[in-house]
Amino acid sequence: MKQTSRTMLARKHVALVAHDHYKNALSEWVQENKEILSQHELYATGTTGHILARETGLKITPLISGPMGGDQQLGAMISEQKIDAMIFFWDPLNAVPHDPDVKALLRVSTVWNIPVATNRSTARFLITSPLFGQEVDVQIPDYQAYLDERL
Ligand code: PGA
Repeated sequence: MKQTSRTMLARKHVALVAHDHYKNALSEWVQENKEILSQHELYATGTTGHILARETGLKITPLISGPMGGDQQLGAMISEQKIDAMIFFWDPLNAVPHDPDVKALLRVSTVWNIPVATNRSTARFLITSPLFGQEVDVQIPDYQAYLDERL
């Protein structure tokens, strides 16, 4: 697909999501990186967001809870280019009821080329990247060209 670019501002819109067995791990990670994360705009699926806000004191905009449609809500925001990066500790060892939504969320993240960390090491590499705190241009699909081709 033809590509264009968009500019991510220095202050990123970051989505935080963790499945139940990984909520503690994400909370620990957010606590460790609180200072950096406080410089960004934070969003999270419902339960994750409330837990993280309570445990870290950070201001986080909570979306709908994942199994109730939160992953789809987040996926829509990614498609609308309202999210710049996602930390998503999904559970590779336990089934979740909203597995199709998880897959869809990961799919649109790839379509729109946002950086995604699905485990703690990648989250560490991502947050310590100099690009995390800088304005940066990223490639995205050229939606207008896509439409023009189809109409
Ligand atoms: P939750 O959803 O934060 O509401 O638990 C997470 C998810 O499963 O996507």
